[in-house]
Amino acid sequence: MALVSSKQILINAMNGKYGVGAYNVNNMEQLQAIVNAAKKTQSPLILQATMSALKYSEFSYLACLMKNAALKNYDIPIAIHLDHGNSFESIKNAIDIGFTSVMIDGSLIDGKTPSTYEQNVRITSSVVEYAHKRGISVEGEIGVIGGVEDSVKPTSFYFTDPEEAKNFVNDTNVDSLAISIGTSHGAYKFKRNVSLAFDILKEIRSLINIPIVLHGASSIPKSLIYDFVKYGGKIKSGASGVPIGDLQKAISLGVSKINIDSDIRLVVTTAIRKFFIDHPEKFNPRDYFEYSKTVLVDFIVSKMKDFFTIGHAKD
Ligand SMILES: [Zn+2]
Repeated sequence: MALVSSKQILINAMNGKYGVGAYNVNNMEQLQAIVNAAKKTQSPLILQATMSALKYSEFSYLACLMKNAALKNYDIPIAIHLDHGNSFESIKNAIDIGFTSVMIDGSLIDGKTPSTYEQNVRITSSVVEYAHKRGISVEGEIGVIGGVEDSVKPTSFYFTDPEEAKNFVNDTNVDSLAISIGTSHGAYKFKRNVSLAFDILKEIRSLINIPIVLHGASSIPKSLIYDFVKYGGKIKSGASGVPIGDLQKAISLGVSKINIDSDIRLVVTTAIRKFFIDHPEKFNPRDYFEYSKTVLVDFIVSKMKDFFTIGHAKD
């Protein structure tokens, strides 16, 4: 059985002190590359899709591909996860089309305005009750993560309060918790060179006993930005992400799930741009998608190694 909920994958990671990447997918090629990387490294895998990605694929296309990928690869545990579900209805739809894991982002109302603690508890608890009856794991969020990702556009953000995190876990019975400690969505994570709030992470880890999730954790490597621009891309200056060393430190302090989306977007687009420059005569989509897949496999393999080995090494 390869199709599982994310609960056991993340409990194993928490107990083993390693990180599991949760990679966002939008199409078949990204999915194939990420699954191939997981097979190469024999890593457990969380494949995730945002509401916008599902809408783009008319829901069932992407869901079918994700489910098929998990069912086809019996040698590794794979969870298929809804990223940033924003209503009870969105959760129900995801479960109906076969997702085994869901995130209910009750930290924002309509993807914009920060909600109150009570509003967040109310929506999250109702999702937990519905999902747990069906064997589906639930990720909640407390605190507001900055930046922009698809339909998530907060008007303001704030760090997670550790006491509130503890109460939230008790009040909702979620299986994992996304926290805000300075990461943000998108390619512009830090205005200055600031590091993550590791002291808050440590405190939260000491107060709760479920896996912790880091959103907006792409590294936006400088070499990738350089290549993107070299092959004709345009990006505002100041694009930056979470250095891999900070992610490894976060893993060693107790983060179990690391969400990666922006890096994948950049890797794939840069590869396709390069392919067009290097082979202007080619016009078969299989050619450039095939090339972008091979580049993405290598990138994800390196992420998987970084997340796994270092968390262990610090054991
Ligand atoms: Zn997120």
